[in-house]
Formats: sequence, C-alpha cells, structure tokens
Amino acid sequence: MGDGMRLGIMGGTFDPIHYGHLVAAEEAQYRFGLEKVIFMPCGRPPHKKDYAVTKAEHRFEMTRLAIEGNSDFEVSRLEMDRPGPSYAIDTIMELRQLYLQADIHFITGADAILEILTWKEPECLRDMCKLVAVSRPGYDLATFEKRVGEDFASSVHFLNVPGVSISSTEIRRRAAQKAPIRYLLPEDVRSYIERESLYR
Ligand code: NAP
Repeated sequence: MGDGMRLGIMGGTFDPIHYGHLVAAEEAQYRFGLEKVIFMPCGRPPHKKDYAVTKAEHRFEMTRLAIEGNSDFEVSRLEMDRPGPSYAIDTIMELRQLYLQADIHFITGADAILEILTWKEPECLRDMCKLVAVSRPGYDLATFEKRVGEDFASSVHFLNVPGVSISSTEIRRRAAQKAPIRYLLPEDVRSYIERESLYR
C-alpha cells in the first residue's frame, strides 16, 4: 500500500492546533509535492514534564475539527492508541509497515527538531524519513547547526512559514485569562475549547 507515495506526517502535541500548524502543513504539501498529510497528535509526549498536557481525546477532536473539509489532510490515532511514550521513531516504523515504499516526510517545529539528538534513535529516524523543520523566516540556522551538528543539520529541510508565530502556549495563556483567541485558530476549535472549558 502507498507505494511511491509522497506522504507527510505532521507531528505535534496540538494543544491546541492553530492556524500556524495548518499553514505549515499546507506549505509542506505544496513544497514537497505531498499527496497526503497525516496529522499525528502525540499520545504521551516523552519530553513534557513541566505542564499537564490536555487529554489526547480532546487534542484529537480539535485536530479533526481543524482539518475537516480538506480531503488531503487526515488525522491519526496511532500515537494516542499506542501505550507508553510517543517516540517518533516508533511511529515512523509503524507507518513503514503500512506504506512500504512511501517517501515519508516527518514535519514538525524547528525548535522541537533542535532537541532531536535527545530523542530515541535519532540517526535511525533520519535514515527512515525526510525531516522537515517548520520555522519562521529569519530562524537562526547557525544555532541549529551548532546544536545538532553540521552532518545532521544538512539532512533537515527547513520550511519557512510566517504564520508559525502563533503558538499553542500563547493560546493556552490567553484562554486562561479569558483574552480573545478568535482568528488564531479555526472557529470550530475555538468553540470546542469554550464548550469543553479547556485551558481555564
Ligand atoms: P514542542 O517541543 O512543544 O514544540 C517546540 C516548538 O515547535 C513550539 O514552538 C511548537 O509550537 C512548534 N511545533 C510543534 N509541532 C509543530 C508542527 N507540527 N508545526 C509547526 N510548529 C510546531 O513540540 P511537540 O509539539 O511536543 O512535539 C513535536 C513533535 O516532535 C511531536 O511529533 C513529538 O512526538 C516529536 N518528539 C519526539 C520525541 C522523541 O521521539 N523522543 C521527543 C520530542 C518530540 P506549538 O506549541 O504552537 O505547536
């Protein structure tokens, strides 16, 4: 299945998903000629110890609402339904079984990829898929190279996306203060946050 297909996997906690993520996925699809982009809400983020991540079911539902109507975008429960920490390498290995020959692009934030050397089996991950780092125009590439090393940095594809200045952290902070979040994320997601009293 999926032989030769150009596939994007949009990895993130999506707590909550916002227009920065959607613009990035759309741009990645265009730039890398992806036939499909699968949003992969992280089940149990292995690296987040400083704040309680919103229940995966809520993050999944917000992602589903955000991509509704775009037939090139999908959302997957694969990481959510897998017990234990959600390591990217395990996800890519599982997807490889489903999409044997696919050209897999793992897309996520440049600041997340900055920490890739602390992830599980980073070299294996790099060899199994293309890594796409979403960043703002003007992102400090020199710091990135210094942190991950020239060899690793050269295998990462940077994708500059202006809308990435919207952040989930800022949306959570604003929602907690009852400040407006309208227009930072799809209206259905905003209504869901209100209905479910998230981020209060
Ligand atoms: P994070 O550390 O919370 O994010 C760092 C920065 O990247 C934030 O500014 C974040 O903005 C942005 N970002 C995250 N995902 C993005 C996306 N898909 N598109 C554009 N910007 C994005 O990262 P995270 O969301 O928890 O994790 C990102 C991905 O890395 C997930 O798929 C996770 O599973 C993977 N990861 C794997 C390991 C491992 O295998 N050991 C360890 C860490 C992370 P927002 O907060 O606005 O999203």
